[in-house]
Amino acid sequence: MSAFSDVRRAEVAARAGHRCEYCHLPTRGQVATFPIDHISPRSAGGTNELSNLALTCPHCNAQKWTAAEGTDPETKERVPLFNPRCDEWDQHFEWAVDPPGELAGLTGTGRATVAILCMNAIEMVALRRLLAEVGLFPELR
Ligand SMILES: [Zn+2]
Repeated sequence: MSAFSDVRRAEVAARAGHRCEYCHLPTRGQVATFPIDHISPRSAGGTNELSNLALTCPHCNAQKWTAAEGTDPETKERVPLFNPRCDEWDQHFEWAVDPPGELAGLTGTGRATVAILCMNAIEMVALRRLLAEVGLFPELR
């Protein structure tokens, strides 16, 4: 049973533009229901308030689990993970030109989030490319 009502789930999905707030995978065309992430995990006192919730794809959600920080692979510093409620996506991530479909972290937070969430897992990159080919991932050219 879901911890969230249908109304709350619809609110979170609409605010997210019906895509994963981390990797931008669209809900359209996906069979699985996208989980709602507690940005600050419940185990660390995170609440069910909208300000602590984010729509995630099943892949990002499974990888993130209860993580709220990670190690920047470039500087080896501990940094907070991307927070969809207070960080701007474009400031932390960009789509790689080569290879197409991969995400590049622009900041320590972006790089750590890409690493922890395994955002460039081969199956996720392949899925993005496939969706782009049929017009369901317009961010990729
Ligand atoms: Zn995702």
